[in-house]
Formats: sequence, C-alpha cells, structure tokens
Amino acid sequence: MPIRVLPPQVANKIAAGEVVERPASVVKELIENAIDAGATDIRIEIRQGGRRFIRVGDNGCGIPQAEAALAFARHATSKISSEDDLSRIRTLGFRGEALASIAAVSQVTLVTQAANEDTGTLLRVQAGEVLQDEKHGGTPGTVITVENLFYNTPARLKFLRSEATESSHIIKLASAYAMAYPELRFHLTDDGRLALQTLGTGKLYDVLLKVLGLEVARQMLELEAAVDAAGPSDAPQSPGGAQVSGYIGSPSIHRATRDYEILFVNRRWIQDRSLSFAVEEAYRTLLPVGRYPVAVLSITMDPGDVDVNVHPTKREVRFREPRSVFTAVQKAVRHGVIGQAPVAPISARPQAIVPGEWGPWPTPPTRQHELPGGADRAQMALEIQRTGDVPPIPMQTTPMREQLPMLRVIGQIRQMYIIAEGPDGLYLIDQHAAHERILFEQLQTEKAAMAVSAQNLLEPLSVELLPAQRSQLEAMSEYLAALGFDIAPFGGDTYLVRAIPATLTPGEVTGVIAELLDMAGEGMDPAVTAAEALDIIACHSAVRAGQTLSIQEARELIQQLEKTTSPYTCPHGRPTMIHLSTAQLERSFARK
Ligand code: ADP
Ligand code: MG
Repeated sequence: MPIRVLPPQVANKIAAGEVVERPASVVKELIENAIDAGATDIRIEIRQGGRRFIRVGDNGCGIPQAEAALAFARHATSKISSEDDLSRIRTLGFRGEALASIAAVSQVTLVTQAANEDTGTLLRVQAGEVLQDEKHGGTPGTVITVENLFYNTPARLKFLRSEATESSHIIKLASAYAMAYPELRFHLTDDGRLALQTLGTGKLYDVLLKVLGLEVARQMLELEAAVDAAGPSDAPQSPGGAQVSGYIGSPSIHRATRDYEILFVNRRWIQDRSLSFAVEEAYRTLLPVGRYPVAVLSITMDPGDVDVNVHPTKREVRFREPRSVFTAVQKAVRHGVIGQAPVAPISARPQAIVPGEWGPWPTPPTRQHELPGGADRAQMALEIQRTGDVPPIPMQTTPMREQLPMLRVIGQIRQMYIIAEGPDGLYLIDQHAAHERILFEQLQTEKAAMAVSAQNLLEPLSVELLPAQRSQLEAMSEYLAALGFDIAPFGGDTYLVRAIPATLTPGEVTGVIAELLDMAGEGMDPAVTAAEALDIIACHSAVRAGQTLSIQEARELIQQLEKTTSPYTCPHGRPTMIHLSTAQLERSFARK
C-alpha cells in the first residue's frame, strides 16, 4: 500500500482511543471541565455502567454561543494559548482533546449558557459531526450528555467489563475528585440510585466519611501540617519542594489492592508507581506482605516543577525532582505512621546468627499478575537503599525440602510462633501463616468440589455497603453463594448476612465482605479473583498472632500443615516457618 494521510474520521477514532478508554474516562474529562469552569455543584448521572448514558451537569461559567461548536474541534481549548503556557499549567484540562475524542465515539448533546449571555446553546454531535446547533433557553452552566459510547467502535466495546465493574470505576473516580475538591458539591446517581453525595463543606474528612464509610474514616489520621522534602524541622522550602497533606490509615485497615492509595498532585488525581511505593515503604513491617495501606495524599508543588503533559489521559505526571518528591511523601507518611503505630516493628534477623550463614529461601510461588510489579519493587528498593532511608532487612533461611519432617512441638512464644524440634534442628512456625495455608487449601478443595461448608447464623448480621460495593454485590451474588455466603438486601445501604463460610467467625464477616467486593471491583481476571477470594477468607479465618495456643492445639495445627501441598509458604508467598539446622546452632555457639 502506498503511504497516505488517513482520512480525518479514522485519525479521530485513533486519537479518541487514547483519551477515552472506558466510560470512566468520559466522566473524568467532563468532571475536569466542570471544575475548570469554576463550578461549585457537579451532578453526574450514569446508566448501565455509563455505556448507555452519562450526563454531567455543572453551574460553571458555561460556553459562549459563538464557541460551542468549536469546543468539539480537536486541539480547541480556552485554557492555554502558547507553548510557554504548557510549562505552568494550572487547569486540569489544556490539551483541547477531550470533547473531540468523546464526540468521535458516541452521541453527544451539549446544553450550555455562558454566565454573561442571555440565551444558551443546544448542540448535538455524533461521530464527530455537528448535527444540530441552535439557541436554547436555560440557566448558566453546562450539561453534557454522552450516549451509546463506542457504538461506532465495536472493538472497544468488546473490551469493556461488566456494567457493575464500569460503574464502580466511575464511582471511584468521582469519589477521588470529591476528595480532591472537598469545597465542591458532587452528586452521582448510578441507574437512578444515589451513589455519592458530598456537601462541599471544604473539609476533606467530611468527604472521607462519605467515600470510605465511618468505620474506615475513623481510623484515618490527618497528617500534621505539610512536611516538605527537607523534613519537618527545616523550615525553608527547597526548589522542587513538595508539600504533602492528607490522611493516612491505621495499619489495621490494610487492603487487598492499591485502590485506596489515592494521590493528588496539585489536585490532579494521578497514578505514580514510585509514589505508591513511597507510601507503602512508610508502612514497611507494619502491614502483612501483599497488603496495601489506605492513604489519601495531596501533594502541592510549583506547577513548573511537574510536567502533566505526558499522556493524553493526564493521569501520569513527571517531576522535575522525582527523588525529592518521593522523599517528601515517604517522610510525611512515615512520620504519621510512626505517630500512631501500635507496636514497634520487630527486627527480622535472629540475633545469634552470623550474617551470611543462612542459605537462600526457596523462591515463593509468585502469582502471574504480580510479576511486573515485583521487578519494579526490587528496583525501587534499591533506590531507597541509595537514598539511605529505611534499608530493607534481608530475611534468609535454609532451603527446605517439599515435605514437612516430623516435628515435636515444644511451645509457643510471643503468642505468635510455635517452637518445634525436628530431625535436624529447630523450627519456628508462624501460627497465623501456617493456619492460613491450611484453610486456603481446605477451601480450595471444597470450592473445587462445589461444597464449601457454610454455617447459618442464628442471628443475621447486618452490614452497610458503599455504593461501589453494592453494584459489585449484585454482579457477584452467585459467586458469593458458592463460597457459602447468603447476603440479601435489607433496604438502603443495609444488607443482611444469613450464612457465611464455616471457617469464618461472625466478627470477621464485615471486613471479609468489604474486601471481597473491593477486590472484585478491580475487574481482575476471574481466575485470579477466585484464588484471592479464598485467600481473603483464609486470612480472616486463621488464628491470629496474639492468640495463645495449647500444646495440643499447636500439635494439631502442625499435623494439618503436614497434609498441605505447600507447607512452607502461606497463600501470600510469605514463609510459614524458619528452620535453624543443628549445624547452624553449633556454629552459632562456636561448638564447631
Ligand atoms: P480542554 O479541557 O483541554 O480545554 P476539552 O475538549 O475538554 O479541552 O474542552 C474544550 C473547551 O470547551 C474547554 O477549553 C472549555 O473552554 C470548553 N468547555 C468544555 N466543558 C466545559 C464546561 N463544563 N464548562 C465551560 N466550558 C467548557
Ligand atoms: Mg477538558
């Protein structure tokens, strides 16, 4: 084929694909436009996960009649005018691409009236073509309706997830903007049901209550007055200095996904692996492996120190001084975490052992979807080592054979570890991790046989669900039933739980259900989700650290562990035990 310039229709569809990935992308662009327009009231309505219908209305400045059609042209914007402006962007939008992109792949209706004009405009655009442009009476502000998204790009349509998942993405997104802009009123309905409403009090905590629920919000700690990169004591702000404010969760409310690590840079909701890692690092040793903290952090810096023009969706940014931003976040969060940590972290390395004496631990099985993150993590751990902050303590032990040897239980220490003697030395078994492994495999077998044992609750438990969780619950009801749950709506946000998996204690039910629904909202591969679900139930059912075990109970635990297929790791891949061989003991006591 000879080289040709693509017809505008085709070029537009290609460009649109970069901005509009899914219904939530449309909602994001429309909310950003409303905020840029100075709105104080933003109303969002979605139907069928946003595929069928999205409407965002605002009371902002509106679009002048003469410019309404132009707003839909590609690279048409009122927010910047020169190349220079690109280096100090203060608005959320600036690329002039969103409306053009949305209109290229849907049917759009715009009703708008500029604050200083007497009449407004009604405009219909379909597949990028203006079909109607006329005067329209109304009130100042803008209402944009987007219908039948991707109707002309079937390939894209196929990639969308279930309505419930798309809805939950939209709810999370609107919640994030509500947190970034607590002074604005947000109102969101999903198929007619109220999913989010904030009052615009200007207080972030009021929004957290709505978005995270009372239970979680109660365990959030406000970071002290902004801490800059140089640390709390150095008052003058260095160039590239970042101010960090917001709320962080107590280590006890950890989550299965990164969904609740919410970051804003100059009030723009961003994704940044390195900053997420900075947050997680600050919680180091306080959260179980594979679990993520809850944090809502707002980073403020000179707009000239951050490039937001990296990706069409503007969710990635580049910092002029990434290292200092990283440190500012890590320090601010660490400062807060330490202020509220219930117990001091315990050093992972046993004292009497000479470093280097211990062999490597067999690589734990890594789950498929964690692989790329794993590599990054190692890289970032190195970075941190170089910056000299919180050096990781390597945990090393001798390689183990697949089958567990016969063990004689001697006792329990710290209400956490079982001490046992084996044919070759001493074993320390983490009671929680070991029990988790046992229950995980038991659930796996029962699930495969479609016979997960359930227990009926004498008194049904009532749980309150967040809007995003409610839409997941409907989509997952069959799956939850297969796991032994019986959950029925009871009106409003309240649901009644009548049966639960037999392994679970009623006290854990609320937490487990919330976690299962949050995880499903991720829209992950169902096979992965299924394994994670068992994992969540196992983790909540297992004996906790801090629980006293009798010798008999400890013995039974070890016997059950012997029967598992992977006795040496818990379902998260963390070791269930440490082995100190006789030879190591003798060397350590300088007997050899
Ligand atoms: P950008 O936001 O990058 O400028 P968009 O395609 O999102 O590009 O919007 C194009 C223009 O339309 C904006 O620059 C703005 O002038 C106008 N506009 C869009 N939405 C609104 C709104 N809700 N209120 C007022 N003006 C709007
Ligand atoms: Mg925009």
